[in-house]
Amino acid sequence: MTFHAKFSGYADPALHAAGLYIGGKWQSGSGITVLDPSTGNLLAEVADASIEDAQRAVDAAHAAAAGWRATPARQRSEILRRWYQLMTQHAEELATLIALENGKALVDARGEVAYAAEFFRWYAEEATRIPGEFRRTPSGSHNILVDHEPIGIAVLITPWNFPAAMATRKIGPALAAGCTVILKPASETPLTAYAMARLGEEAGVPPGVVNVLTTSNPGGITNAMLADSRVRKLSFTGSTGVGRVLLAEAAKSVVSCSMELGGNAPFIVFDDADLEAALDGAMIAKMRNAGEACTAANRFYVQAGIHDAFVAGLTARMMSLKIGPGYDPETQCGPMITQNAVRKIDRLVSEALAAGARATTGGKPLTENGYFYPPTVLENVPVNASIAREEIFGPVAPVYKFESDDEAIRLANNTEYGLAAYIYSRDLKRAMTVGKHIETGMLGINRGLMSDPAAPFGGVKQSGLGREGGVTGILEFMEPKYYAVDY
Ligand code: NAP
Repeated sequence: MTFHAKFSGYADPALHAAGLYIGGKWQSGSGITVLDPSTGNLLAEVADASIEDAQRAVDAAHAAAAGWRATPARQRSEILRRWYQLMTQHAEELATLIALENGKALVDARGEVAYAAEFFRWYAEEATRIPGEFRRTPSGSHNILVDHEPIGIAVLITPWNFPAAMATRKIGPALAAGCTVILKPASETPLTAYAMARLGEEAGVPPGVVNVLTTSNPGGITNAMLADSRVRKLSFTGSTGVGRVLLAEAAKSVVSCSMELGGNAPFIVFDDADLEAALDGAMIAKMRNAGEACTAANRFYVQAGIHDAFVAGLTARMMSLKIGPGYDPETQCGPMITQNAVRKIDRLVSEALAAGARATTGGKPLTENGYFYPPTVLENVPVNASIAREEIFGPVAPVYKFESDDEAIRLANNTEYGLAAYIYSRDLKRAMTVGKHIETGMLGINRGLMSDPAAPFGGVKQSGLGREGGVTGILEFMEPKYYAVDY
């Protein structure tokens, strides 16, 4: 891996080793360029794995599998716990690295590192509490004994928007369950994954238990790994479009899949909401990572009586945000990940404006260097505009007016997604009743942030399959084995 000179000023390159990590060995290479999204300049170049490299990674994960599976849970737990401690010790370097390659503001990057490390702590604890079951059949014929076994080699594919947390949310439960893994991070943000692998090595993760590959051929490499009968699990976080392709590919060898896919979260504000609290929550739900989050509020449905005050308050808050490179400590809204991301946001906003929406702030990409889009509020947006159907993944808040609870429910559910939703109301009975009718995997009530390692994260409809985190997250990497026992 070669580093751009600018890089060394912000984080320690020695932390990030050198290229593909297979079987506990670092293999240097080049071919994948990592850009600073705040300037478009080259940050670093990392290795580009071939299909043969992927096969070597499966070989390494296979060679380590029996030993890791047989390692006592307490020992696996202690290795995860050490990894958590090392991430915490190196939190500032990791946050700087994330801010550099992803562009998110340092304050968000620090939050991500803390959240990411917590998955290792949580699964260090869960590793020692893997559940089993014992009972008699209803007919009294025999005893049912259920054990949970590690599912086998897991391929983990992660997106660029949370380069640390999306990796630990998979590696933590997989290792706790006794599986060995091959992580393929997003090409835009590989440095964080390699930095974390380095810390894992230091924490005592045995060679081959965690392997990391970056590639410019994600489809070819993943298909080759899924076709290998030793691979038994695919855990993917990314867009619904790629998720559909991978589900079809995994079906060929009937590989178990966990899918964390896209979202289109509604944020519903009722007339009886605490306006200031709703605005605070809206800023977190919309502007964490500058809107580049799967749980980001994508559609603000605001009841007629509070609508104008909400739009005015949200506009004032969005206008006050400082835009800049993520690694500048003053920044509150960093750049988007790529120029293409800016183009997509621009298309959605332009279509909404052409259909009758009005921008109370923002509404056009910024023209300076880097991939910047300003915080934007749109009002009077038609409910059927493309911006109401597609993930914006940027700092744009479209606001729609509604009248009745039934209308709010109908609008919220008018999407193929069902990952996250938010409701603000002082009437908890009303919030819970409306919430019951909303098709979503996660619901924030009077809260703009719901992610927590101890809670099940995931979506319904086309937002995914399975859950990560919580007490059930570990079971995604295990198979129940039933023993019918007489004695
Ligand atoms: P993406 O384009 O789907 O890419 C995600 C990952 O899949 C990357 O590592 C990418 O590699 C890889 N990939 C792309 N095509 C592939 C293929 N044919 N076979 C195997 N792997 C392939 O998504 P993204 O743009 O990085 O991330 C944003 C999306 O992720 C949004 O839709 C967001 O909602 C979703 N997301 C969901 C959650 C959740 O928990 N539900 C969390 C975060 C993000 P390359 O980078 O090399 O292309």
